[in-house]
Amino acid sequence: MSDDKKKTENAREAESVTSSSVDQGEKPRVPVTDVLNTPPQRDDPISFLTDMDGVLVKEGEIIPGADEFLNELRENDVEYMVLTNNSIYTPRDLSARLERTGIDIPAERIWTSAKATAAFLASQKEVSTAYVVGESGLTTALHEIGWILTDSDPEYVVLGETRTYSFEAITTAIRLIRRGAKFICTNPDITGPSPEGVLPATGAVASLIQTASLKEPYYVGKPNPMMMRSALRRIGVHSENTIMVGDRMDTDIKAGMEAGMKTILVRSGITDDDMIEDFPYRPSRVIDSVKDLVGNVHDPCGEFEE
Ligand SMILES: [Mg+2]
Repeated sequence: MSDDKKKTENAREAESVTSSSVDQGEKPRVPVTDVLNTPPQRDDPISFLTDMDGVLVKEGEIIPGADEFLNELRENDVEYMVLTNNSIYTPRDLSARLERTGIDIPAERIWTSAKATAAFLASQKEVSTAYVVGESGLTTALHEIGWILTDSDPEYVVLGETRTYSFEAITTAIRLIRRGAKFICTNPDITGPSPEGVLPATGAVASLIQTASLKEPYYVGKPNPMMMRSALRRIGVHSENTIMVGDRMDTDIKAGMEAGMKTILVRSGITDDDMIEDFPYRPSRVIDSVKDLVGNVHDPCGEFEE
């Protein structure tokens, strides 16, 4: 159904509610716009999108309370999806890696930038061809949507994260883009963390390819709200009743806000309170960690009075 059609239907529904519940003879009718602007109610089902690094895990270790938070979601039948811009691993790989840290998240609850990129490409073309610079997380996602991976005149060049960027692969990508291939990149992060210091990430390699190919890539992962929207569609929920939990103002909070969600910033990752002031927007709420949401998943932003 188109958005316009949906709006018209919602308006009709709202109208029928007001005309049946309000006695028109004695009281003025409630304008339809007021009904549509009804604030969220305590009983509305809440859903969560949550970032992974800095929210649930940090440097390969569980963030205390992350397991309790996820259990709370499951026990209360709350829909959720865990998001990561990491495109190296498949959701199954990530699920297994998380299990070793003590976090139980099934693969179907993990939404990577590689999966979001594949969902975006599938929405563009049912079947097409791509030259991929990336790891199994990305190649598997593209195989799953039925795309053909080739270096022979592909329609797209798709760049994701790898730890083994080869000069040869980058050269091939540049030449294909210069010959007309469309340039897609899983995420714009320029660096990633490691115990020894920062690592150059997908965005940094994208800059190299962009400079030499004279073409700008289209980035799908956070902070593109496309990543949030495809995750919402995946679990069949709407943005207005969904909370985005993240540890970065410039990706998680920005993308959550732009996708129409309420946002919660956790202090367990890379952002402290002083850094929040550097941004022209604010999260709906700031908490120490997801542990603070345990026992509170139906009113995470403290909107409802006791
Ligand atoms: Mg993070």
